Amino acid sequence: MQESPRDLLRRVFGHEDFRGQQRAIIEHIADGGDALVLMPTGGGKSLCYQVPALLRDGVGVVVSPLIALMQDQVEALRQLGVRAEYLNSTLDAESAARIERAMLAGELDLLYVAPERLLTPRFLSLLDRAKVGLFAIDEAHCVSQWGHDFRREYRELTVLHERWPDVPRIALTATADPPTQREIAERLQLEDARRFVSSFDRPNIRYTVVQKDNGKRQLLDFLRAHRDEAGIVYGLSRRKVEETAEFLAGQGFKALPYHAGLDADVRAQNQRRFLREDGVVMVATIAFGMGIDKPDVRFVAHIDLPKSLEGYYQETGRAGRDGEPAEAWLCYGLGDMVLLKQMIEQSEAGEERKQLERRKLDQLLGYCESMRCRRQVLLAGFGETYPHPCGHCDNCLTPADSWDATVAARKALSCVYRTGQRFGAAHVIDVLRGGEGEKIRQFGHDRLTTYGIGADLDAKTWRGVFRQLVAGGLLAIDTDAYGGLRLTDASRAVLTGGQTVMLRRDVVEKSKRDRDGGP
Ligand code: ADP
Ligand code: ZN
Repeated sequence: MQESPRDLLRRVFGHEDFRGQQRAIIEHIADGGDALVLMPTGGGKSLCYQVPALLRDGVGVVVSPLIALMQDQVEALRQLGVRAEYLNSTLDAESAARIERAMLAGELDLLYVAPERLLTPRFLSLLDRAKVGLFAIDEAHCVSQWGHDFRREYRELTVLHERWPDVPRIALTATADPPTQREIAERLQLEDARRFVSSFDRPNIRYTVVQKDNGKRQLLDFLRAHRDEAGIVYGLSRRKVEETAEFLAGQGFKALPYHAGLDADVRAQNQRRFLREDGVVMVATIAFGMGIDKPDVRFVAHIDLPKSLEGYYQETGRAGRDGEPAEAWLCYGLGDMVLLKQMIEQSEAGEERKQLERRKLDQLLGYCESMRCRRQVLLAGFGETYPHPCGHCDNCLTPADSWDATVAARKALSCVYRTGQRFGAAHVIDVLRGGEGEKIRQFGHDRLTTYGIGADLDAKTWRGVFRQLVAGGLLAIDTDAYGGLRLTDASRAVLTGGQTVMLRRDVVEKSKRDRDGGP
């Protein structure tokens, strides 16, 4: 009699029982059905193809874009006594030939293959002669042209279905906004596959967004609460990553940099240390993280704005895979917004792509500025309704105040207009507050009617106002290098007096207030 999935789970993997939808998925695949699996990072996707591969006759062929991940997984499987191998460009010809022979002889349970390798005519004809139990397509969102992980070869994976229509296929991803979902199904010819959509909620992660004031100090304050814990700090540029890693190392943290500009050796070494040593803080660009399976990452901090909510959720999903409490912390300011908007406008991408990137950034900014429960906003982004406020994100724990900023907004917009719609927020704020600087005199801005009309608010409050006006589309940023502010169609409704503007009162973090004795 064949072993039951659960007995196999216990015998081989040593786990007591399945989680979430694992059992249903495994039974479906083991029976020969196709599946599209959407499960958050850490949800336990690997078992969804590993168990059926062991239950079915023949080898389970796993397509994975990540060489490092393949190696880790294969190593872990071998320790469990599973006959697993991988084929990718790091192998010498002799080892590759040995593995191919083992596959043909029916001596493999699982074979991980890079897509470019799988698609070679030679390998495909080899598969013709082997017995294949299933195809698993990991990181299936790589098929989406709009995602940041697009892999051209993924588009050609339809050959699997065309050539071996009877072999079940399972595609898996942790990226699941509804448009990407549809694209995966379409591009991989999985329209008829059963879909398994898990909740994307990660109840043990606490989400917090803070407004950037003194970014370094804020990061340090945050990290001090996580001494000796492993975590990831994401920054936008290579330079920022290096600077920050150095700064943190100087503050006594075990901080290492990771970005695509480092030597492959250094990258591999830093990644290894992060995985094996305790309490390493990896300071990285988004080049780091896909496929990293480290269960005890206690925090993911973003010191720059991510480009989309989807990307943000995936990056923060790397925290707390072990189910223990973990934190997702995001620190951003007006400058970050200006930078990202300029990057979009100045890129070589076509108009359609830019349009999409603008929408994604706006969705992310909506999240940052929201006064609602963060979890509700995040999950809504994935088409999921979270029934009640979570009670444990920053907005739930310390509800943000809102204030009627109509008058302030009008002053801000008029001042942008009067100064000629070509200056950045810092200068406009200076004019509003009646500053005495050289630049003000040079442009004659001390003679404007808006000079000094905003002296009632401090500069920090004004920065919050401008940031929120930009985030809300009431101000636009020029696409030239200077990032001047200009009015939008929406701002006219405020200027002509019709519309009220409610803004969020920025929270001053406690530790800073204590130290400075500030407001
Ligand atoms: P994903 O690929 O979805 O990010 P993984 O497959 O790497 O997630 O699984 C995440 C972690 O959860 C791994 O450490 C794995 O061993 C563990 N895990 C998965 N399923 C179970 C289960 N049924 N019981 C116990 N641990 C599990
Ligand atoms: Zn909440």
